[in-house]
Amino acid sequence: MKKSPLNYIRKNIIALQPYSTARDEFKGGDISVWLDANESPYNNGVNRYPDPHQKALKEKISSLFNMPAESIFVGGAGSDEAIDVIYRIFCRPAIDNAIAIAPSYGVYKVSADINDIDLREVLLNEDFSLPVERILDAADAHTKIVWICSPNNPTGNAFPKESILDLADRFDGMVVVDEAYGDFSDRGSLLPEISSHPNIIILRTFSKAWGMAGMRAGMAFAIPEVIDYFDRVKYPYNMSVIIQQELLRRIELGTENHIPEIIAEREKLATSLAELDCIKAVHPSDANFILVRVEDADAMYDYLVKNGVIVRNRSRMPLCEGALRITVGTPEENARTLKLFKEYSR
Ligand SMILES: *Cc1c(COP(=O)(O)O)cnc(C)c1O
Repeated sequence: MKKSPLNYIRKNIIALQPYSTARDEFKGGDISVWLDANESPYNNGVNRYPDPHQKALKEKISSLFNMPAESIFVGGAGSDEAIDVIYRIFCRPAIDNAIAIAPSYGVYKVSADINDIDLREVLLNEDFSLPVERILDAADAHTKIVWICSPNNPTGNAFPKESILDLADRFDGMVVVDEAYGDFSDRGSLLPEISSHPNIIILRTFSKAWGMAGMRAGMAFAIPEVIDYFDRVKYPYNMSVIIQQELLRRIELGTENHIPEIIAEREKLATSLAELDCIKAVHPSDANFILVRVEDADAMYDYLVKNGVIVRNRSRMPLCEGALRITVGTPEENARTLKLFKEYSR
């Protein structure tokens, strides 16, 4: 019998009496004089504390993602904040452990190290597919979390929904699906599966497809009972007044959506790269970047830098020998990069 997700939460977190803000303790009434929070009374736009529950923003995100507001956590340090909060909710330092696929996003490991959590890395299959059985084999009674980044960074592929759901069905702990690049994939999101798979947490971000990496705004979605603990553990004012307002404004404005353009450029760039002698392989991508293999990744990287173009050298990551990760840029930027590769080929 599978346990409720609440069984995986640390006992001290269950017992936690969360910080109660001045505005939490005030209930109703028609107040025009606010002398409860030691703020400056002089209005300069930011003299008041932000809403710790980000109510207006969550309502907007709720309609955007078609998920109830009670299922949403919003972080003011991007979805990286959610990664840290997840460790702190579920993993006892020096006792519990977590599992990540490898290669994958580096923050799962750094955040585990900071929290003194052993992160077990399970190599993807050679074709970058999801090794569900080996992940389950790596788990023990202290494994609280499995991180699945899909589409995966840096490999670029999204995993089939069925294999992630199979893992969630069989793993006795939380499965966190990081969909930072989900908007670039036609595999579809796992958001609708949360209600039937209560041990799934989904991460999304405004940093990639939404074009707001500078804003630092990310989200976690889970059943309300789990999100309740995010709210208890997070810093009370984890998203500033300015970011909440600006994010709302931009969402309402309907930010320019470049997703189709980026996907079209990705396909074009992948096809052109595949024709070059200096490129040994182009991995299919469901994201806004392409992983390619070259003979000598360090030499190619240096050559590109010398010519003013920077890509990510991923050749030291597991299964990534000779690999460079190229973010899809504007058509002009992609043409310029392609031209450099072409010249290198000769
Ligand atoms: C970029 C990235 C994020 C970071 O998101 P922020 O919201 O900017 O913190 C999360 N996960 C993966 C896999 C990423 O590549």
